[in-house]
Amino acid sequence: MIKGDALYSGKAKTVYATTDPKRYIVKFRDDVTAGDGAKKANMKGKGYYNAQISAKLFKLLADNGISTHYIKMVSEDEMLVHACDMVKIEVIPRNYAAGSIVRKYGFKEGQKFDPTLIVMDYKNDAAHDPMLNDDIAIALGIASDKEIRKIRKISLRVNEILQQFFDERGLLLPDFKLEFGKVDKKIVVADEISPDTMRLWKKDTRQSLDKDVFRFDKGDLMAAYDEAAKLIVPEIFK
Ligand code: AMP
Repeated sequence: MIKGDALYSGKAKTVYATTDPKRYIVKFRDDVTAGDGAKKANMKGKGYYNAQISAKLFKLLADNGISTHYIKMVSEDEMLVHACDMVKIEVIPRNYAAGSIVRKYGFKEGQKFDPTLIVMDYKNDAAHDPMLNDDIAIALGIASDKEIRKIRKISLRVNEILQQFFDERGLLLPDFKLEFGKVDKKIVVADEISPDTMRLWKKDTRQSLDKDVFRFDKGDLMAAYDEAAKLIVPEIFK
Protein backbone atom coordinates (compact mmCIF):
# COMPACT_ATOMS: atom_id res chain seq x y z
CA MET A 1 0.00 0.00 0.00
CA ILE A 2 1.75 3.17 -1.19
CA LYS A 3 0.71 6.62 0.05
CA GLY A 4 -0.30 8.93 -2.81
CA ASP A 5 -1.33 12.57 -3.10
CA ALA A 6 -3.00 14.51 -0.31
CA LEU A 7 -6.70 14.65 -1.20
CA TYR A 8 -7.95 16.83 1.62
CA SER A 9 -6.38 18.66 4.51
CA GLY A 10 -8.63 19.58 7.41
CA LYS A 11 -7.84 21.38 10.65
CA ALA A 12 -5.99 18.47 12.28
CA LYS A 13 -5.88 15.60 9.78
CA THR A 14 -4.79 15.06 6.17
CA VAL A 15 -6.34 12.40 3.94
CA TYR A 16 -4.12 10.75 1.31
CA ALA A 17 -4.96 8.58 -1.68
CA THR A 18 -3.34 5.15 -1.88
CA THR A 19 -2.67 2.78 -4.76
CA ASP A 20 -6.05 1.20 -3.93
CA PRO A 21 -8.88 3.64 -4.85
CA LYS A 22 -11.06 2.08 -2.13
CA ARG A 23 -8.60 2.87 0.65
CA TYR A 24 -7.24 6.11 2.04
CA ILE A 25 -4.62 6.95 4.62
CA VAL A 26 -5.57 9.45 7.34
CA LYS A 27 -2.67 11.26 9.01
CA PHE A 28 -3.31 12.83 12.42
CA ARG A 29 -1.29 16.04 12.57
CA ASP A 30 -0.01 17.93 15.61
CA ASP A 31 -2.10 21.00 14.73
CA VAL A 32 -4.78 22.07 17.16
CA THR A 33 -7.45 24.67 16.42
CA ALA A 34 -10.49 26.02 18.23
CA GLY A 35 -13.27 28.52 17.57
CA ASP A 36 -13.68 27.73 13.85
CA GLY A 37 -9.90 28.00 13.38
CA ALA A 38 -9.60 31.38 15.18
CA LYS A 39 -7.16 29.89 17.72
CA LYS A 40 -4.29 27.74 16.45
CA ALA A 41 -1.23 25.93 17.79
CA ASN A 42 1.02 22.97 17.08
CA MET A 43 1.71 20.49 19.88
CA LYS A 44 4.25 17.77 19.37
CA GLY A 45 2.81 14.32 19.95
CA LYS A 46 -0.87 15.33 19.76
CA GLY A 47 -1.35 13.60 16.40
CA TYR A 48 0.19 10.41 17.78
CA TYR A 49 -2.10 10.33 20.82
CA ASN A 50 -5.23 11.09 18.82
CA ALA A 51 -4.40 8.46 16.20
CA GLN A 52 -3.73 5.79 18.85
CA ILE A 53 -6.85 6.70 20.86
CA SER A 54 -9.04 6.75 17.73
CA ALA A 55 -7.68 3.38 16.59
CA LYS A 56 -8.38 1.84 19.99
CA LEU A 57 -11.95 3.20 20.05
CA PHE A 58 -12.67 2.14 16.45
CA LYS A 59 -11.48 -1.38 17.38
CA LEU A 60 -13.69 -1.32 20.47
CA LEU A 61 -16.68 -0.41 18.27
CA ALA A 62 -15.85 -3.14 15.74
CA ASP A 63 -15.62 -5.68 18.60
CA ASN A 64 -19.16 -4.60 19.50
CA GLY A 65 -20.55 -5.06 16.00
CA ILE A 66 -20.39 -1.42 14.82
CA SER A 67 -18.94 -0.88 11.32
CA THR A 68 -16.31 1.84 11.03
CA HIS A 69 -13.97 3.11 8.32
CA TYR A 70 -10.89 1.92 10.28
CA ILE A 71 -8.75 -0.88 8.80
CA LYS A 72 -5.36 -0.71 10.54
CA MET A 73 -2.53 1.57 11.62
CA VAL A 74 0.20 2.02 8.99
CA SER A 75 2.48 4.17 11.16
CA GLU A 76 2.35 5.72 14.64
CA ASP A 77 0.03 8.52 13.52
CA GLU A 78 -1.50 7.24 10.28
CA MET A 79 -4.41 4.86 9.75
CA LEU A 80 -5.60 3.01 6.70
CA VAL A 81 -9.35 3.48 6.22
CA HIS A 82 -12.10 2.53 3.79
CA ALA A 83 -12.72 5.39 1.35
CA CYS A 84 -16.22 6.70 2.19
CA ASP A 85 -18.76 9.09 0.79
CA MET A 86 -19.01 11.37 3.80
CA VAL A 87 -22.44 12.28 5.17
CA LYS A 88 -22.40 16.02 5.90
CA ILE A 89 -23.77 15.64 9.40
CA GLU A 90 -21.98 15.96 12.74
CA VAL A 91 -23.82 13.93 15.35
CA ILE A 92 -23.30 14.90 18.98
CA PRO A 93 -24.61 12.56 21.68
CA ARG A 94 -24.86 14.62 24.88
CA ASN A 95 -24.90 12.95 28.28
CA TYR A 96 -24.08 16.03 30.39
CA ALA A 97 -24.60 19.69 29.49
CA ALA A 98 -21.44 21.51 28.40
CA GLY A 99 -20.25 23.87 25.70
CA SER A 100 -22.57 25.22 23.03
CA ILE A 101 -25.76 23.67 24.44
CA VAL A 102 -25.24 25.58 27.70
CA ARG A 103 -24.50 28.83 25.85
CA LYS A 104 -27.43 28.49 23.43
CA TYR A 105 -30.20 27.08 25.61
CA GLY A 106 -29.26 27.92 29.19
CA PHE A 107 -28.89 24.37 30.51
CA LYS A 108 -26.90 24.21 33.72
CA GLU A 109 -23.24 23.26 33.10
CA GLY A 110 -22.73 19.61 34.10
CA GLN A 111 -26.46 18.79 34.31
CA LYS A 112 -27.15 15.17 33.31
CA PHE A 113 -29.33 14.47 30.28
CA ASP A 114 -31.48 11.39 30.77
CA PRO A 115 -32.20 10.23 28.16
CA THR A 116 -29.12 11.22 26.18
CA LEU A 117 -29.69 14.04 23.67
CA ILE A 118 -28.73 13.44 20.06
CA VAL A 119 -27.91 16.75 18.36
CA MET A 120 -27.20 16.89 14.65
CA ASP A 121 -25.32 19.73 12.96
CA TYR A 122 -24.89 20.41 9.25
CA LYS A 123 -21.17 19.98 8.48
CA ASN A 124 -20.68 23.27 6.68
CA ASP A 125 -17.88 25.54 7.91
CA ALA A 126 -19.05 28.53 5.84
CA ALA A 127 -22.43 28.39 7.61
CA HIS A 128 -20.78 27.61 11.01
CA ASP A 129 -22.29 24.10 11.27
CA PRO A 130 -25.94 25.08 11.94
CA MET A 131 -28.11 22.65 13.86
CA LEU A 132 -30.27 20.34 11.73
CA ASN A 133 -33.49 18.54 12.26
CA ASP A 134 -34.54 15.47 10.27
CA ASP A 135 -36.75 17.46 7.87
CA ILE A 136 -33.99 19.95 7.02
CA ALA A 137 -31.42 17.17 6.53
CA ILE A 138 -33.77 15.35 4.16
CA ALA A 139 -34.72 18.58 2.28
CA LEU A 140 -31.01 19.39 1.83
CA GLY A 141 -30.46 15.90 0.41
CA ILE A 142 -27.81 15.17 3.08
CA ALA A 143 -29.35 11.82 4.00
CA SER A 144 -32.58 9.89 3.57
CA ASP A 145 -35.11 9.39 6.35
CA LYS A 146 -33.97 5.79 6.69
CA GLU A 147 -30.29 6.80 6.85
CA ILE A 148 -31.00 9.38 9.55
CA ARG A 149 -32.83 6.80 11.63
CA LYS A 150 -29.91 4.42 11.20
CA ILE A 151 -27.38 7.14 12.13
CA ARG A 152 -29.35 7.97 15.28
CA LYS A 153 -29.54 4.30 16.30
CA ILE A 154 -25.80 3.71 15.72
CA SER A 155 -24.95 6.93 17.61
CA LEU A 156 -26.91 5.84 20.69
CA ARG A 157 -25.24 2.42 20.64
CA VAL A 158 -21.75 3.97 20.20
CA ASN A 159 -22.55 6.24 23.14
CA GLU A 160 -23.41 3.24 25.35
CA ILE A 161 -20.22 1.40 24.38
CA LEU A 162 -17.97 4.44 24.91
CA GLN A 163 -19.64 5.47 28.18
CA GLN A 164 -19.04 2.01 29.63
CA PHE A 165 -15.42 1.97 28.41
CA PHE A 166 -14.67 5.37 29.96
CA ASP A 167 -16.60 4.63 33.16
CA GLU A 168 -14.34 1.61 33.74
CA ARG A 169 -11.36 4.00 33.50
CA GLY A 170 -12.66 6.64 35.92
CA LEU A 171 -13.84 8.99 33.19
CA LEU A 172 -17.13 10.67 32.27
CA LEU A 173 -18.13 11.27 28.66
CA PRO A 174 -20.28 14.46 28.67
CA ASP A 175 -20.47 14.60 24.87
CA PHE A 176 -18.68 13.70 21.66
CA LYS A 177 -18.94 14.23 17.95
CA LEU A 178 -19.40 11.44 15.42
CA GLU A 179 -19.18 11.56 11.65
CA PHE A 180 -20.49 8.97 9.26
CA GLY A 181 -19.62 7.85 5.77
CA LYS A 182 -21.06 5.43 3.26
CA VAL A 183 -19.10 2.47 1.89
CA ASP A 184 -21.10 0.76 -0.87
CA LYS A 185 -24.24 2.46 0.52
CA LYS A 186 -23.63 1.08 4.02
CA ILE A 187 -23.40 3.63 6.86
CA VAL A 188 -20.15 3.39 8.84
CA VAL A 189 -18.62 5.48 11.64
CA ALA A 190 -15.82 7.56 10.10
CA ASP A 191 -13.48 10.48 10.92
CA GLU A 192 -11.96 10.20 14.42
CA ILE A 193 -12.95 9.61 18.03
CA SER A 194 -10.39 11.39 20.17
CA PRO A 195 -10.00 14.02 22.91
CA ASP A 196 -10.15 16.60 20.07
CA THR A 197 -13.76 15.59 19.36
CA MET A 198 -15.15 14.69 22.77
CA ARG A 199 -15.45 16.01 26.28
CA LEU A 200 -13.82 13.74 28.82
CA TRP A 201 -13.95 14.57 32.52
CA LYS A 202 -12.31 12.87 35.44
CA LYS A 203 -15.21 11.35 37.37
CA ASP A 204 -14.09 12.57 40.79
CA THR A 205 -13.08 16.18 40.00
CA ARG A 206 -14.76 16.78 36.59
CA GLN A 207 -11.40 18.08 35.37
CA SER A 208 -11.25 18.22 31.53
CA LEU A 209 -8.88 15.86 29.71
CA ASP A 210 -9.91 17.07 26.25
CA LYS A 211 -9.65 20.01 23.86
CA ASP A 212 -11.56 22.31 26.24
CA VAL A 213 -8.17 22.72 27.99
CA PHE A 214 -7.00 24.53 24.83
CA ARG A 215 -10.34 26.18 23.95
CA PHE A 216 -10.71 27.78 27.33
CA ASP A 217 -7.05 28.14 28.38
CA LYS A 218 -7.51 25.74 31.29
CA GLY A 219 -3.85 24.67 31.39
CA ASP A 220 -1.44 22.41 29.51
CA LEU A 221 -3.24 20.54 26.70
CA MET A 222 -0.50 17.94 26.23
CA ALA A 223 -0.44 17.14 29.95
CA ALA A 224 -4.21 16.52 29.77
CA TYR A 225 -3.89 14.34 26.63
CA ASP A 226 -1.04 12.45 28.24
CA GLU A 227 -3.25 11.66 31.23
CA ALA A 228 -6.12 10.62 28.94
CA ALA A 229 -3.82 8.45 26.81
CA LYS A 230 -2.43 6.67 29.89
CA LEU A 231 -5.98 5.64 30.83
CA ILE A 232 -7.26 4.84 27.33
CA VAL A 233 -4.19 3.34 25.59
CA PRO A 234 -1.86 2.26 28.44
CA GLU A 235 -0.28 -0.29 26.08
CA ILE A 236 1.52 2.44 24.07
CA PHE A 237 3.51 3.44 27.16
CA LYS A 238 5.01 -0.04 27.71
P1 AMP B 1 -20.04 21.97 21.33
O1 AMP B 1 -21.24 21.97 20.43
O2 AMP B 1 -19.00 22.97 20.90
O3 AMP B 1 -20.38 22.03 22.75
O4 AMP B 1 -19.34 20.55 21.10
C1 AMP B 1 -19.91 19.34 21.51
C2 AMP B 1 -18.93 18.20 21.40
O5 AMP B 1 -18.67 17.92 20.03
C3 AMP B 1 -17.56 18.52 22.00
O6 AMP B 1 -17.07 17.33 22.57
C4 AMP B 1 -16.73 18.96 20.84
O7 AMP B 1 -15.38 18.63 21.05
C5 AMP B 1 -17.33 18.18 19.72
N1 AMP B 1 -17.38 18.95 18.47
C6 AMP B 1 -18.33 19.80 18.09
N2 AMP B 1 -18.07 20.33 16.90
C7 AMP B 1 -16.91 19.81 16.52
C8 AMP B 1 -16.09 19.97 15.37
N3 AMP B 1 -16.43 20.76 14.35
N4 AMP B 1 -14.95 19.25 15.33
C9 AMP B 1 -14.62 18.43 16.34
N5 AMP B 1 -15.35 18.24 17.43
C10 AMP B 1 -16.48 18.92 17.54
